[in-house]
Amino acid sequence: MNDSGNPRRPEGPGRRRIVKGLGIAAGGLLAGGAGFVGEQAWQEKDPPTPASAASVDSWQPPGRQVDVLWAVDTAQRLVALTFDDGPMERWTPQALDTLDAEKVTATFFVVGSRLVRNARLVHDRLGRHEVGNHTWKHDDLSKMSHANAYRSIHRTHTAIKEITGREATLLRPPWGRLGGTTLHVAAEHGYDLALWSLLVQDRRYGDDPAGLVEAVVDNTRPGTIVLAHDVGAPSRKVAVQQLPAIIRGLRAKGFEFVTVSQLRQAASGRATPGTGHAAPITAPSPPSRP
Ligand SMILES: [Zn+2]
Repeated sequence: MNDSGNPRRPEGPGRRRIVKGLGIAAGGLLAGGAGFVGEQAWQEKDPPTPASAASVDSWQPPGRQVDVLWAVDTAQRLVALTFDDGPMERWTPQALDTLDAEKVTATFFVVGSRLVRNARLVHDRLGRHEVGNHTWKHDDLSKMSHANAYRSIHRTHTAIKEITGREATLLRPPWGRLGGTTLHVAAEHGYDLALWSLLVQDRRYGDDPAGLVEAVVDNTRPGTIVLAHDVGAPSRKVAVQQLPAIIRGLRAKGFEFVTVSQLRQAASGRATPGTGHAAPITAPSPPSRP
């Protein structure tokens, strides 16, 4: 909820203290931890640094609220598989083949420049999957000015629209690194941020495929967002090769696979349009974990 500008909002000393504290925090970030720059100096800084989520002027973002999702609260045994960093010859087609063979829906957070270069790999193959934004060149958004973050995210947004015919609504910042400017650009695009609650640990289990499968299946809970990669080192190929075993292991425990957006919709009790999933939408349930 954004109630800033509400004239009835109390403006007591407590609130002033909080604002001053924020000014100090921002000043410390601006100076690289070297000390307090001062609120006035901070306000005169232009353009905003990566640390700042402030808007320079009055604005009307399409998304006035940016959510950050690690997982969702649901009693339904739903899980969202997500794949980052593609599309690339290694190993996007293999991941798509498995998802097709197992009739599983997933979410791909694509790198814009790779999507443009490798559009043929995903042509006509992303129909039932969701596609999210993973920046133009796997950029570290925590270090980017507003202008550069906007360029990276918007270019990727446009590429996704042109190549898949759909507008992305989710942004996953590479490495989970984000700055204030990330939030600003996300709001400008109506995006929410999709992080993850379970990482497929391909490096740790590169020599232990069965252990990799077990770690995913044992640690998945209703509402888990699983992060895998469809691009990268040979250890990631191990993870892609184990995808059928992961899917079957989760199915054996009663899990159904949905996109991140479908997961959110199910958790909020809304219908899941066009999913083909018969999962009943139940009344909002208490959180399944702390
Ligand atoms: Zn990534």
